Amino acid sequence: MDLTCGRPLADAVEQLLSGAGGDPLLVSDYDGTLAPFRKERNEAVPPPSVRRALEAILEAGGDLLILSGRRAEEVASLLGLPVEIRGCHGWERLTAEGVLNSPSLRDWESHALESLASELSGFPPPAVERKPISVALHWRGRDSVKESYDVVSDRLVRAARQAGLEVLPFNGGVEYRLPGCTKGRAMERILEERGGPVCYLGDDVTDEDAFRVLRGRGLGILVGDRARTEAELRISPGCTEAFLGLWREALTKTGAGGRRR
Ligand SMILES: [Mg+2]
Repeated sequence: MDLTCGRPLADAVEQLLSGAGGDPLLVSDYDGTLAPFRKERNEAVPPPSVRRALEAILEAGGDLLILSGRRAEEVASLLGLPVEIRGCHGWERLTAEGVLNSPSLRDWESHALESLASELSGFPPPAVERKPISVALHWRGRDSVKESYDVVSDRLVRAARQAGLEVLPFNGGVEYRLPGCTKGRAMERILEERGGPVCYLGDDVTDEDAFRVLRGRGLGILVGDRARTEAELRISPGCTEAFLGLWREALTKTGAGGRRR
């Protein structure tokens, strides 16, 4: 474990990039990893220094992919960089050129989500997020939402599970989601599609599935100080920009970035 962007992390990155052949891929979560949390979710953008570091990776020929719980197009408009985005935990795929692929749902899946959304209709609209595969309730900065949710949560969880949905708490809210739509499944697909080394950066409990899949097959880095994690390494949130700089340097040093140019 490493709480800083010091030497051991640089060594781990260089080792990853010098090992397996193929183009290296940096995959990152968005909220809480690249963009600090905001009460108004549509205001969550990366700090200028982090954006510059991401641009520098792209300029160095690095390959970058965002894997987020948000809608892919929402991330694209907030991030504003020409990168591929897997939204809704990998259900949606938005190419760097702006082509969106979002599979359609089966009838029972649509009905289960509709039913859950109507259960949450009494909450303030900004707190409820309806996505193709899930409905999320956000209570960050809204204590009254959390208090109201606590009153009904047992009943909602029972109803959701009976309807075939999974209940996934995350940092600042809870998500009712179709089964199997996890970042672990998304990471499996990414590894199948790409032959090169993969590094994943994430902060939340939903990122643990992806870290688990990467064990022994790539490098998982937790952004935060959670004690229990499947990630191999961790960095403090203030170190994200430094890590991105380190990734770009390693791309140049190992010649890995140049393979794409
Ligand atoms: Mg996150």
